[in-house]
Amino acid sequence: MKMPVLFVGHGSPMNAVEENEFVDGFRNIAKIIPQPAVVLCVSAHWETKRTFVTAMDNPRTKHDFFGFPQELYDVQYPAPGNPTLAKEIMSLITKTKVGLDYEWGLDHGCWIVMKHFFPKADIPIVQLSLDYSQPAQFHYDLGKELSWLRKRGVLIIGSGNIVHNLGLAAWGQIDTVGFGYDWAIEANEKVKNYVLNNNHQALTNYHSLGRAFDLAIPTPEHYLPLLYALALKEENEKMTLFNDKLLAGSISMTSLLIG
Ligand code: ZN
Repeated sequence: MKMPVLFVGHGSPMNAVEENEFVDGFRNIAKIIPQPAVVLCVSAHWETKRTFVTAMDNPRTKHDFFGFPQELYDVQYPAPGNPTLAKEIMSLITKTKVGLDYEWGLDHGCWIVMKHFFPKADIPIVQLSLDYSQPAQFHYDLGKELSWLRKRGVLIIGSGNIVHNLGLAAWGQIDTVGFGYDWAIEANEKVKNYVLNNNHQALTNYHSLGRAFDLAIPTPEHYLPLLYALALKEENEKMTLFNDKLLAGSISMTSLLIG
């Protein structure tokens, strides 16, 4: 039995407390996947020099955002950690030297989604950081080294957004759900085509895919979690897109279930 793999577009931190179609999308996917023993989350919001895994017993809920309503800061997601798994990951990864982290906790890229997947916060979570000094191919190759976890009941989730340009976001528009700039639509559609055609090489070379991609991925951290998920896809495994919509012109919520 092999656990599926997910890439989720997490969007705004407000998804933790709002009711909307994306939150429904998270809940619907949670209904069709087996209950995991542990979740390993690769979040856009934990960038480090070198690679780390969280190894504390009780990771704190990090409110790593500014200017949101108090109700969002009041949310706690008290899922336990799993230090044993963190140590195993540290000892079994050969691509790089993985460090154990006792400081981080759960950032919002992880918990705002997990809150809808596992509302009881009863599934242990370990986070893996993104080494910002490394190129896309490094992240893809590191993702491949995590494949043994799938047979151990670990649900691996990459959490980011395929298209993510907050500087150009059109939040002021009346209906921002479903609205995308031409370049955002182009980049999102091309990524989906490459994903569905298993062209992972194009996706790790996203820097050379032209202007739409330059605008869609101005910084890599929200895109790289997708590469971890894709690296774990085995031949002939089913892929299902969900929450496949643009938002505020320059953010895509497009998410992917593998397996
Ligand atoms: Zn984010």
